[in-house]
Amino acid sequence: MKASFVTVAAFAGLSLFATIPAGADDRFPAQLMDPEPTGSITTFASVNPQSTHPDMAPDALLGAIAGFDSCVRSLGSAAAKRGIPHANYARLTAGLSPDVHILKLLDAQPEFTKSVWDYIDTLVSEERIKRGRELLAEYAQTFAAAERAYGVDRYVIAAIWGVETKYSAIAGDRSVLRSTATLACIGRRQEYFAKEFMAVLELLNHGDIAPERLKGSWAGAFGPTQFMPTVYQRYAVDFDGDGRRDIIGSVPDMIGSTANYLKKNGWHAGETWGYEVVLPRNFDFMLADRSRQHTLRQWEHAGIRRASGAAFPRASDKAFLLAPAGARGPAFLMLGNFRAIMRYNPAEAYALAIGHLADRLRGGDAFVQAWPRDERVLSRTERYELQQRLANRGYGVGEPDGQLGTRTRAALRQYQASVGLVPDGFASSSVLQHLRTR
Ligand code: CA
Repeated sequence: MKASFVTVAAFAGLSLFATIPAGADDRFPAQLMDPEPTGSITTFASVNPQSTHPDMAPDALLGAIAGFDSCVRSLGSAAAKRGIPHANYARLTAGLSPDVHILKLLDAQPEFTKSVWDYIDTLVSEERIKRGRELLAEYAQTFAAAERAYGVDRYVIAAIWGVETKYSAIAGDRSVLRSTATLACIGRRQEYFAKEFMAVLELLNHGDIAPERLKGSWAGAFGPTQFMPTVYQRYAVDFDGDGRRDIIGSVPDMIGSTANYLKKNGWHAGETWGYEVVLPRNFDFMLADRSRQHTLRQWEHAGIRRASGAAFPRASDKAFLLAPAGARGPAFLMLGNFRAIMRYNPAEAYALAIGHLADRLRGGDAFVQAWPRDERVLSRTERYELQQRLANRGYGVGEPDGQLGTRTRAALRQYQASVGLVPDGFASSSVLQHLRTR
């Protein structure tokens, strides 16, 4: 829920909406990462050999850990400016200690990630479809009320609930106050997390949620749809009318708040998120780029059809083309509501999983086209090598970081086009081999 961040390890019930810096891979979200690694702070350097930020150096971390109490005390004046009485601040922060186990997750990057198809298979499973339909029936009146109030599709809200926490099964069990205090005082994201910490204090000071119930991911996201504290502050609503905004304890508050978030971030009532499409032979994959928006009518003129065979409703809607697994996988035309979902988490695979789960909950079918399941996903080391080889040939990839962001994909397309390959920007093992041997 913060444009410059994506989430880590949703499968493990860990965090959402924080933690990966801007410019990180925006196609393969960090939820693909392995569950939270274990190990003490002393193994930090080996967990994260790439970290170069001075605040993440072992000596800096140990110094910040030692200074945690005075750091927390010093934040009291900022809390006072927000109207939190000193006595309340002292009571809320009494006995706080840093949770050093979460620090390594600030920069953690897994060596191996899932393919987009394995990711979607996991999140859009028969089990998740079945459970989502049960909850849609159980809370039908609440979902209907949220649709009336915010104009946001109930199936998308249910899909976010299902993807974020497996319908509350994995919402995280760390103290949000402790996690945000730790990250506000230690490590390379202190400024960002100081704001989150303040938002937590305001919530607790106001009494919306009891401190012992405010549990969440290591980065401080909480509730069934994993709001960060500042997101809660801006978008949470009291949808059941009991006077408290309690997205942990009240399903209506959670549903209303999630709907409100999407509405405020550009959701268009009555529209879908996108369509699976079939591309014509010899399609120009340079057009499959998020920056290239055309109307559905224009895409039809380029030979694109819906995979279902049905016509496009509202042919003047603008869409961009996404081919998340390259030329050998399914393609999609993405509408404005896809971008609204990406405001929740800026990873394309995440938004595709949400859109697809929503369609399946509604009774829709699986994708028509097959994924290239024989493709092997590159390891982080291989992605790093791919970037270095592109850079060596003069393509602008920025500083190689092992993450396939927008710049790397653009560079890869240019390389593919220059050597007569289909410029789909998909980092396959064969394109890496091509770079090695030419
Ligand atoms: Ca309430």
